[in-house]
Order: sequence, then structure tokens, then C-alpha cells
Amino acid sequence: MTVEMLNSYRSGPDERGMFGTFGGRFVSETLMPLILDLEREFFRARDDAGFWQEMDDLWTHYVGRPSPLYFAERLTSHLGGAKVYMKRDELNHTGAHKINNVLGQILLARRMGKTRIIAETGAGQHGVATATVCARFGLKCVVYMGVHDVDRQAPNVFRMRLLGAEVIPVTSGRGTLKDAMNDALRDWVTNVRDTFYCIGTVAGPHPYPLLVREFQSIIGREARSQMHEREGRLPDIVIACIGGGSNAMGLFHPFLDDQSVRIIGVEAGGKGVDSRMEHCASLTGGRPGVLHGNRTYLLQDDDGQILEGYSISAGLDYPGIGPEHSWLHETGRAEYVSVTDQEALDAFQLCCEREGIIPALEPSHALAHVARIAPDLPADQIICMNMCGRGDKDIFTVAKALGLQIEAG
Ligand SMILES: *Cc1c(COP(=O)(O)O)cnc(C)c1O
Repeated sequence: MTVEMLNSYRSGPDERGMFGTFGGRFVSETLMPLILDLEREFFRARDDAGFWQEMDDLWTHYVGRPSPLYFAERLTSHLGGAKVYMKRDELNHTGAHKINNVLGQILLARRMGKTRIIAETGAGQHGVATATVCARFGLKCVVYMGVHDVDRQAPNVFRMRLLGAEVIPVTSGRGTLKDAMNDALRDWVTNVRDTFYCIGTVAGPHPYPLLVREFQSIIGREARSQMHEREGRLPDIVIACIGGGSNAMGLFHPFLDDQSVRIIGVEAGGKGVDSRMEHCASLTGGRPGVLHGNRTYLLQDDDGQILEGYSISAGLDYPGIGPEHSWLHETGRAEYVSVTDQEALDAFQLCCEREGIIPALEPSHALAHVARIAPDLPADQIICMNMCGRGDKDIFTVAKALGLQIEAG
């Protein structure tokens, strides 16, 4: 580690892609040249003002950035403690933060002369964002999706097809997100010349965790300056839900060196972290191993077999977590907690009724933890949570969980 890395939480990863003992690039020799090409182009783009001008233009006019920083006044008075602000990334085009990252990667692909984009998707949000931006730029788009997710997430599969993407149901392994990512990596190796792999979270081999974080950090940069405008100071706590960890990394990163800011990541506790793996809390309930080209905390059995994990929220059931979070966990810079399905559902309803915002089930997890801690904090404390997605996609799941019918007409 270099000297400046020891003085800052913000300068990682090192040149091998390591955050402490996490991250890296555990890939086959055939994949290595592709990864190195991507890394070279990413660093070139990052130093190119023209690249960021193009990003800014699309963020403003296509995505709808900056997203508002909203004071949740009725929720705050209901909880009766700290002031609760929401960073409204659910208002982005396609309804979540995913598009921040997809735009960056697709612009990189264009610079590299790639014409075919592949992606993995679980719940379908990253697939929809990728299909959207590919349509915008006239690029061929292929999305790998586990067969089980294809069944569970039919509306998103249809959206991707409307947008011109080819959705490939993945039957290998157990037919879930983990297997979709493996198949996408295989596709990449066999279609080297024209194909770009657009990863949906801060996972995968270096430089993906770095570049996805860089593109998502627009969330935290905006939140930081908006908070200065609204309150004239930094928030006391920033908090976000964690699947792979990209919306959280995007909010957290610009605050990492502000020692007064508490940083909290919320994992999916499913039916409880002490239930027999019916959760998806990689940090709270897993241990380090290697998956998808990087070393990080994973849900695994005693033999090191990767377990599937479970959450009511399809977007949170990745069995790993981005390596930078594993490092922030081990250094103690960030805290990680878990929230159960039931707590997330309660927070979902509270947000609908008190704020007129139907949140996705993923950020409902973050909100549930806000509801736990805010009442015990003084009224002059400020919490900023990432409302990273809207709940339209989740109404069927919620109806089922509440034992209600969605009536037609
Ligand atoms: C995909 C998704 C997540 C989980 O992904 P992260 O990489 O952890 O951000 C969380 N919330 C929403 C709304 C999503 O679509």
C-alpha cells in the first residue's frame, strides 16, 4: 500500500486492484488481456474532460440528474428524533441508480469501438438500464438472467425485449444471478473482439469495483453539496442498502474521509441472520473467499460452496458483496447491519403512508434501519439515506406478503 492510501480511505484500490486483502483479479489467462484493455481505457477516460462532459450532458438531459435531496418532514416527526433526508435516486430514468453506472460503461464501450454489450441481471433492473442505454446508442444488447429470475421477474424481461435486448435464460448451476454472471464472463472470453461486459455492481475483477464506484459516486458528490446548501454542514450519518454494494459505495465514497460522518450499510436479513441461510447478509453472516474474480466476504458452506442467499427483495440476493465494503468493514470505517423482510415491509408501508413515496424493497431495508436509530438521536442530528429505487416493480411481491389482491380494472 502506498503512503497516501494509508492517509485516506478514498484513494484505493492499489494498482493490483486490492482494498487491503480484498478485491484483485482472479481471472483466467484468456480474460486477462480484456481486463487490462478495459483498465487502460478507463484511466484514459477518467482523465479526459470530454468524457465527463458527455456523461454530464446525459446525466442531466437523459437521466434527470441531479436527483433531489429531500427532507422527509412527516417521517421525521413520526420517528421523533434525528432529521431524515432522502437522496432521491428513485427519480432517475428507469427508476433506480443503476443507470448512473451503465451510462459510464457504455460510453467506455463506445470509446473502445465495441458494438455488442453483454450484462448479467438478477431482479432485472440492471438489465433494463443496460437495454435502455443500448437502445439509446444503437448497440446490440444481450442480457444473461437465471431461469428462476426470468420466471419471477416477467415484467422486466418484457421491458428488456421491448427495448430490443436479447434475454438469455441461464440454466447452469442453480439458474440464479451468480450463474448468470458466470455465463456472461464465459461469453466475454469467447467474443473478445466486439463485446463489452457491463457489470451491474461494485463486484467482479479489478477494475470493475473501481469504475462502477466512480460512476455511482455522483450520488454522494451531489448529496454532499446539496446538504451544504440545505443545512450548511455535513450529515451525521449516511446510510444505504447493500446487494452488491454499488448504490451504497456511490453514496459513501465522497464521505469516507469525513471522520464526523457515520457510515452504515444495511444488508438483507431475510428471515433473520440466525435462520439457516434464509438471508443474504454476506458481511454479517459470511466469510472471505473468491467469487467472480475478486476476494471478498461471501455466503458459503463449510466446504466453501457458494450458497444462494434469500431476501424478499430480488435486488439484494447476491451472495457476495463488493470488495471495498469488505475492507471498510474490516477497517471499521463503515458499520454493517442487517434488516429482516418484515422490518423492510413495515418501512415500505411507513414511507408510502407518511411521505407519498412508494420505495423499492431494497431501500426499504435502509429506511427500516433509519426507523430503528432515528428516535434515539437528538433532533439536531442529520441522517441522509439513499432512496435508490422506486417500488413499482415490487407491488406484486408486497401484495403477496401482505396477503392482499391486486385487482384489475
Ligand atoms: C440493483 C439494486 C440494488 C442492489 O444493488 P447495489 O449494487 O447494492 O446497489 C439496490 N436497490 C435497487 C433499487 C436496485 O435496483
